[in-house]
Amino acid sequence: MTRIEDIVRYLEQIAPLAYQEGYDNAGLVVGELATPVTGILICLDITESVIEEAKVKNCNLIIAHHPIIFRPISKLTSENYVGRCITHAIKQDIALYGLHTNLDNLAHGVNEQIAKTLCLDDLTVLLPKTGTLRQLTTFVPYSSVDSVLQALHAAGAGHMGDYTHCSFVAKGTGSFRPTSTAYPYIGTVDKPEKVEEGRIEVIFPAHLETPVLQALRATHPYEEVAYYVHKLSNTDPKVGAGMIGELPSALHSQEFLAYLKAKMQLAYIRHTTPIGRPVKRVAVCGGSGSFLIEHAILKHADVLVTSDVKYHDFFKADGQMIIADIGHYESEVGVKALIYTLLSKKFTNIVLLKCETITNPIYCL
Ligand SMILES: [Zn+2]
Repeated sequence: MTRIEDIVRYLEQIAPLAYQEGYDNAGLVVGELATPVTGILICLDITESVIEEAKVKNCNLIIAHHPIIFRPISKLTSENYVGRCITHAIKQDIALYGLHTNLDNLAHGVNEQIAKTLCLDDLTVLLPKTGTLRQLTTFVPYSSVDSVLQALHAAGAGHMGDYTHCSFVAKGTGSFRPTSTAYPYIGTVDKPEKVEEGRIEVIFPAHLETPVLQALRATHPYEEVAYYVHKLSNTDPKVGAGMIGELPSALHSQEFLAYLKAKMQLAYIRHTTPIGRPVKRVAVCGGSGSFLIEHAILKHADVLVTSDVKYHDFFKADGQMIIADIGHYESEVGVKALIYTLLSKKFTNIVLLKCETITNPIYCL
């Protein structure tokens, strides 16, 4: 039997909540972790029609890209659609889960999906997220270095880009003097001791600090474990906003816009003026990506494909890059397939459905 907790744990191993932006509210918003899952409906937005679809299809868990509660709410009434959706979901015993900017910020997330649709190569994260990494330095009797390292790696330390089991070990001499209340692993009470030790250094994601330190204490033989944890200003190349890559071959501005329209199946694109050079380097950001305009220009993008660009933000292209606004819904509707693929890799015995209700609130003539 699969419980909501199993789904949540799996999703948050792939897209940790710590990777969401400060303004976000990803995670389980309505529901109980212990409830057995009857079926999962995957959608972009939660609306009353989506909840009705879940009910008809016997899905008691809705996984949405956009969390239904985004900012704190003070009333839960039928006066607005958020209150009605939450009330309806609770009455129908349907849980609501949001997989939002923690998914956006993954190198293998929403933006990679857009980039792949556009056949971009040499992909990198456009604006890597800061504050996600820590460094652990610890001192271990040299004979215990391998076992401690093994435990640290198993807890998630030493993962850098496409490499796992990364560490640095230097040999040195540790010294200490056990007091009368100590039970030393090596040495004698009140006698100064010198021990050949290894200085281990590993990087780990900040959100894994508790399991990493638990692994250290569980395998380190000393009564008092000497260690430091440092905050790093380094960025994780696999975590952050937007992506940038290159088209297989350069296109003229108008050719690229036609290509973008066809590949993303768009009715229209709002864009700035063509640039006087071929388009080869393409930055993408699903959802609202105006905050990336300057970063895309700095990284020599020929175009930024995103949505929700305000009138004055279009001016920031300033002839240096094309800004192409393809629409919020259109840029992210593919997230249903992405979440479906993530879940179907692990859960083969649950009903997994992509929502058929079209939730785009914007219509065009
Ligand atoms: Zn969005």
